[in-house]
Amino acid sequence: MTAKITLDILESYLQCKYKCHLKLLGEHGTPSAYEQLMRETRHRLRLAARDALLSQHGERESLCNHAVTVTVLEQSAPLLLDALVEDERLSVRFDALQRAPGPSKLGNFHYIPVLVHEAERPAQPQRTLLELCGVLLGPLQGRMPGYGVLRMARDGQVTKITLHPDDRRLWRWLQEIRDIQGGMPPPLILNRHCQICEFRQRCQEEAVAKDDLSLVRGMGEKEIAKYNRRGSSRLPNCPVHSALASDGRHCHTKCNRIRLR
Ligand code: SF4
Repeated sequence: MTAKITLDILESYLQCKYKCHLKLLGEHGTPSAYEQLMRETRHRLRLAARDALLSQHGERESLCNHAVTVTVLEQSAPLLLDALVEDERLSVRFDALQRAPGPSKLGNFHYIPVLVHEAERPAQPQRTLLELCGVLLGPLQGRMPGYGVLRMARDGQVTKITLHPDDRRLWRWLQEIRDIQGGMPPPLILNRHCQICEFRQRCQEEAVAKDDLSLVRGMGEKEIAKYNRRGSSRLPNCPVHSALASDGRHCHTKCNRIRLR
């Protein structure tokens, strides 16, 4: 039985589809020192953001730890902290929802998602995570939020991010996550996130055991899929040398293929 889709699962999917699959299966790896540090930093930032948001919106008027339903949203609280969007397959806890002007099925207002992140400045993964949050929130209030808020590590920097709920990729990604949850595992493809991933040892061993194509650095997902379609299980050699350096070095200066193990 697979787990529900959480914020952590969404973020894992954006880092690596296989990681999303492993987490949905309930597997746990050994967090790298970097991952551990990032988790602690995020926890600290969340506490600081919570204080800042409560003092900005008023503690009495704000709601904390509520399941997000139409009834709760219709109360028109200026802030919902730790708001939980849930159904039978999904359980995503938003750091906060902030009331914003603009009509929705709730009235003459709607909510925008707030995400706290340990990154130094807004980059694509955090923007995309916020976009996915917006897409999940939209149907509940009958309106897609046009923007969201990222609260980052750098001095609690607050950045308003424009959201693009019409971007079809967002819906495709959500569907793919649901497919993974439904038992369609993605292929293992080693990638740049592996070096800090909690599953790095497990995946490396699995890749070596099946002599996986992704052991060759420099091969993209599409190229790997092409070789797999051909049914080729052999690691492709360097096109120049008809061989592959096996000691972690390039065959020659322009070769981008390195057998990692
Ligand atoms: S170790 Fe690499 S391939 Fe395995 S789950 Fe992590 S990022 Fe994905």
